Amino acid sequence: MTAESHSAAEIPGRLNLVREEIRLACESAGRPPGTVELVAVSKTMPAAAAEDAIEAGQRVFGENRVQEALAKWPALKELHPGLELHLIGPLQTNKVKDAIALFDVIQTVDRPKLARVLAEEMERTGKRPRCFVQVNTGEEPQKAGVAPEDVAAFVTLCRETFNLPVVGLMCIPPLEEEPAMHFALLAKLADELGLPERSMGMSGDFETAIAFGATYVRIGTAIFGARILLE
Ligand SMILES: *Cc1c(COP(=O)(O)O)cnc(C)c1O
Repeated sequence: MTAESHSAAEIPGRLNLVREEIRLACESAGRPPGTVELVAVSKTMPAAAAEDAIEAGQRVFGENRVQEALAKWPALKELHPGLELHLIGPLQTNKVKDAIALFDVIQTVDRPKLARVLAEEMERTGKRPRCFVQVNTGEEPQKAGVAPEDVAAFVTLCRETFNLPVVGLMCIPPLEEEPAMHFALLAKLADELGLPERSMGMSGDFETAIAFGATYVRIGTAIFGARILLE
């Protein structure tokens, strides 16, 4: 990869291209434009890159690590009121306090202990970031997320026992598989549970995700260029 692929000057152009591709994917799926929210995934990217996207009008961002987000986003949020920050990576219970303070949406709720600690911190602070339950649609042993057959019971636990503001489901399909069946499964589970939001689709497959009903797509590389650092 060239240094040029990280050039900040390219970010507004790439962002506009992605927005146009989302609009076209909505059109071919027969969905009104504006029914899909773009989450710009700025993980591993410097604050300056996020700032370029903000200047190009982007308001919703995703980060996968609490520590990294803490170093980048408090200052950006203060400078640019109205930003919405999503946590899209695994959350350890000892980081819940920081996560609730910083994030507006937590997409990776995936186990009872985490749900309980989130509920306690929401109760303590009165801050209630919207939550997604992460589903391990490919049932991959190394991957986070609730198994599909356990999703209904877990969502009920989150809503009824812990009173979490669960708005939708999120998935990351297995790398080596056709993503469509995973998107279809996530949409079906969300429908059955009456959850309006589906977070699915990344740079390589967001058009397919939109065809299957994504309401949030999480896109990094197509906006910011390839990541050099490890995720
Ligand atoms: C990194 C990441 C993305 C963005 O991936 P790209 O392929 O760069 O668009 C989306 N979702 C999650 C959970 C991620 O960790």
